[in-house]
Amino acid sequence: MIKRRETYNVDVGGVIIGSSYPIRIQSMTNTQTEDSLKTASQIKELYDSGSELVRITVNNEDSAKSVIKIKDLLVKSNYNLPLIGDFHYNGHTLLACYPEAASILDKYRINPGNVGSSDNKNFTEIINIAKKYDKAVRIGGNWGSLSRSYLEKTIVDGKKSDMYEEIIKDALIDSVLKSAELAEELGLASNKIILSCKVSSVTQLVEVYTKIAKKCRYPLHLGLTEAGMGDEAIVSSVAALSILINQGIGDTIRVSLTPDKMGARTQEVDVCKNILASLGLKQFKPKVVSCPGCGRTSSNYFIELTKDINNHIENNMITWKSQYKNVENINIAVMGCIVNGPGESKHANIGISLPGTNESPSAPVYVDGEKVTTLRGDSIKEDFLNIIETYIVKNYERIS
Ligand code: SF4
Repeated sequence: MIKRRETYNVDVGGVIIGSSYPIRIQSMTNTQTEDSLKTASQIKELYDSGSELVRITVNNEDSAKSVIKIKDLLVKSNYNLPLIGDFHYNGHTLLACYPEAASILDKYRINPGNVGSSDNKNFTEIINIAKKYDKAVRIGGNWGSLSRSYLEKTIVDGKKSDMYEEIIKDALIDSVLKSAELAEELGLASNKIILSCKVSSVTQLVEVYTKIAKKCRYPLHLGLTEAGMGDEAIVSSVAALSILINQGIGDTIRVSLTPDKMGARTQEVDVCKNILASLGLKQFKPKVVSCPGCGRTSSNYFIELTKDINNHIENNMITWKSQYKNVENINIAVMGCIVNGPGESKHANIGISLPGTNESPSAPVYVDGEKVTTLRGDSIKEDFLNIIETYIVKNYERIS
């Protein structure tokens, strides 16, 4: 059981972020915000795939105007999720000039490194607007955009300091904590503030978040910035976030992936869901435990069966979820042979141990730890799927 670090609970448009609540998944659109139709459509996709909050870029007047249209499109199709505005450099101006957008957005993300003034004037304006509309802010530092005053400390005798990385990490923490302190001095309540300190290396992210977690009670937004593309980016994000979450650190997560041409934006949400599911924090769909196969399996039969079962679950999950309470918590095991098959099958709600090479051509099936039948012949797949269906009907409360 993971013990979460205790934090304030911050209400972001009805979704509460903090240690008394589950870790929230969020994502960010990559459409031009000015294109309200495309942006609203991507927000819907992200929400449908499991993103509880969605952030959009608000970087110019057109995008600020578009916030109103986007919200309108979402509300018309019954999407009432919290929207976060991502501001850099000119957030104070846009929020002041477009009060409707300021009141629609549920949280403002500001970066202390590029808020746009060294005398805190712009920051003060944003905080005053957040107070006026009762909004939360994320003070999100990024080691790629620290303010000049911090960067100057990395130069010693005209050269890059040997302690460059240490200075940068400490500066990142210092900048977000000082900004949070200033926000509170300006009258923003502590339960309106979320912090993040993003870096692009796994070990550094762990180090920075472990440090900042000990220094404050603000909820923390976790994410590895500029994680990159493809498997490498996914593995890095999973490694970094899993280590921190397992230590109880992190209240909302985002996985930033550079999309390849064909990649769906929802992939970042899928990765977040898999992280939370792997750590046993939330199950989003039935878990299928399957062995990797080895020389003991005689054919691809068990690979095909695992694939078919996974597909069957994917195809039926929406219907099951609409019919049965908590059905996503079911665990299914599909194993390749007698070595680990019966044992792993007994741990699952429903498990099947397929025959390996030279084993008798039969497949014992276990339900809640007890062997209930042995399947044989050509219809093993269909019979097993029927057993799953029957189990769901019998064991999960029907939603009336
Ligand atoms: S359960 Fe059997 S087939 Fe699967 S990996 Fe283990 S030994 Fe190999």
